[in-house]
Amino acid sequence: MSRPDGSTDRTPGREPLLSVSDLRTVFYTDKETIHAVDGISFDIYPGETVGLVGESGSGKSVTARSLLGLVDEPGVVEEGTLEFKGEDLLETGWAEYRGDLSIVFQDPSNALNPVYTVGNQIREALAIHQGLRGSAARERAIELLEAVGIPDAPRRVKEYPHQFSGGMQQRAVIAIALACDPDLLVCDEPTTALDVTIQAQILDLLDELQREEDLAILFISHDMGVIEETADRINVIYAGEIVERAPTERLLAAPEHPYTEALLNSIPGRTPPDQRLPTLDGEVPTPDGPAESCRFAPRCPVAVEECHETPPDAVAVGENGTDHSAACLLAGESEPEGEQ
Ligand code: ADP
Ligand code: MG
Repeated sequence: MSRPDGSTDRTPGREPLLSVSDLRTVFYTDKETIHAVDGISFDIYPGETVGLVGESGSGKSVTARSLLGLVDEPGVVEEGTLEFKGEDLLETGWAEYRGDLSIVFQDPSNALNPVYTVGNQIREALAIHQGLRGSAARERAIELLEAVGIPDAPRRVKEYPHQFSGGMQQRAVIAIALACDPDLLVCDEPTTALDVTIQAQILDLLDELQREEDLAILFISHDMGVIEETADRINVIYAGEIVERAPTERLLAAPEHPYTEALLNSIPGRTPPDQRLPTLDGEVPTPDGPAESCRFAPRCPVAVEECHETPPDAVAVGENGTDHSAACLLAGESEPEGEQ
């Protein structure tokens, strides 16, 4: 399928589980119109982890909420298609697919209901999405808590969220998400609120669950270091647009967009300081109208005049059919070799 931006990340012979095309989500506030997600496209295949990375305010959470049908007023998903298992969710609605798509948010304490036990909340999901009740549900709830690495699960299942540590709470949230038996798990900064050791444990857990359950995961983070560890393929988002996309190894080895380079430079120890681009000042702009130039140009260390005048299209920059594209006027122009 060709998209309005001409990009494709299709793998021949395989059908994506979710195909997002030209998604546009707009917030109409009293003061302004915010084009939070401004025409993004990407695919997720069964069983893979796709990364979505960009600084705070770039549109990651709005993307996640758009996929799940959770955009609230004054937001509207205005355009695009979300093809899931062959149907456009924007046409069919989510009711039929509720359990198939699950989301894990950043803050587990908000996701859990304080007045019900953890077991209760897992069993509720099991009842709704898998029709399990009674002792079958009780046993499955304990199994799920064990699967997410909660020790002494038969006792813990009867406890309330406040009796769990932050890391344990996030494990419980993941258990509830799994109780829906999803095909796609959207993880929106699932480890950002946790300390580094717990973060590593949760990442290992997701990795393990993915292999066991053949889950597809959309992993969202502002942290390129975390994305690099988890994702098979990476989409880089800036001010509501995907500015670069490539398989992880390729993106790390040969980033084409200066923004991607800046994110990679932020991974401690990756680039010797003398070879780095200057660190980025400023913030992601809020897209309040259609793009009339490259939205990154004002912060870009290598921008030329044209960058301030023309919005760049995504162009294929992959070698030998590698799925690699970048929306930068300078992409594909490799530096002259042998010159200083
Ligand atoms: P992040 O990449 O940090 O997750 P978000 O997706 O949360 O970023 O936000 C992207 C943009 O959308 C921001 O400019 C933000 O101000 C705007 N936005 C998000 N939610 C709302 C809302 N409810 N009302 C108005 N603007 C919003
Ligand atoms: Mg967010």
